[in-house]
Amino acid sequence: MEMKKLNIEALHAELLTQLPVERVRKQEELKYHTTFKIGGPADIFVEPISMDELSFTLKTIKTHNIPLTVIGSGSNILVKDKGIRGAVVSVKEMMQIMDCKDQTLYVGAGYMLKDVSEFAWSQGLTGLEFAIGIPGTLGGAVFMNAGAYDGEMSHVVSRVRAVAFDGTIKEYDVKDLDFGYRHSVFHDNHEVIAEIVMTLTEGNQEAIKARMDELTEKRESKQPLEFASAGSTFKRPTGYYAGTLIEQTGLKGFSVGDAQVSEKHAGFVINTGNASAHDVLTLIKEVQQRVHDAHGVHLEPEVRMIGED
Ligand SMILES: Cc1cc2nc3c(=O)[nH]c(=O)nc-3n(C[C@H](O)[C@H](O)[C@H](O)COP(=O)(O)OP(=O)(O)OC[C@H]3O[C@@H](n4cnc5c(N)ncnc54)[C@H](O)[C@@H]3O)c2cc1C
Repeated sequence: MEMKKLNIEALHAELLTQLPVERVRKQEELKYHTTFKIGGPADIFVEPISMDELSFTLKTIKTHNIPLTVIGSGSNILVKDKGIRGAVVSVKEMMQIMDCKDQTLYVGAGYMLKDVSEFAWSQGLTGLEFAIGIPGTLGGAVFMNAGAYDGEMSHVVSRVRAVAFDGTIKEYDVKDLDFGYRHSVFHDNHEVIAEIVMTLTEGNQEAIKARMDELTEKRESKQPLEFASAGSTFKRPTGYYAGTLIEQTGLKGFSVGDAQVSEKHAGFVINTGNASAHDVLTLIKEVQQRVHDAHGVHLEPEVRMIGED
């Protein structure tokens, strides 16, 4: 069946009526926008910086009937080798607000978790120390309900402003966010998270810093941060740890092309050089099969696979 041709030129021209040329690019290689350093081109790549630009961008993409993909800092995605047809909207530049009033933070979705965590510390607020080493944007972290060391986004988020595909702005209270393990309501409604309100607690600045340093050291000693990756490849199966199961199956160091099960932490698939998405996917399938054969446990990827093979 022949695919309907997408009119990227018309979309490009209309986006340029309101966005500068350097933030609306054609044939953008997505390997430059993922921590895996893998991924083919996006037909069109857009970086809005404000709520108005985001709303205009989404509405225009919808009017032109072009498929939409949203990314943050690309730290939990595997973009396939032929890239992404249609429009990719990066929320990474949405950094117009980072404010604090009493114990509440108001932050744009594009800020990196590290910066938000350090901002909270600078204000003497505790609750975001867990996020210090997670290399994602705040928006991506809300989408994934990212978490580590007993903390997760659902513990601190109180409200979210998002933009729907037709450009309308929506407001959510935490009770409507359907937070679960690596899940939020945005998996189902496909809206774009734009601003986040978080409620923290007053704390001791020295203690907050000490906890952040402790968690950073833990990460550096246990995780293969010197290699490109997308963090933990698999979700934690109930009652087990994915990394332990993979290690017990004898798969540490197992590789396909330049994709490898990390020697340092078997829960991470790393790109040791020039791995393709195909290499990573083949490795993931093989790991799933062998772990299932050895332990009867199905490993479900945490990394989200997008694009064309
Ligand atoms: C070394 C390393 C360590 C990591 N450690 C952890 C950890 O401890 N805990 C943890 O939970 N994760 C961890 N991760 C994974 C990752 O950092 C988190 O999932 C992070 O929250 C993803 O944010 P992002 O901005 O990179 O999102 P992306 O990877 O760009 O996107 C992830 C998903 O979120 C969607 N999305 C992104 N932004 C938005 C938005 N504004 N609105 C709507 N949808 C959006 C995308 O469509 C995609 O489906 C790690 C990754 C690496 C590389």
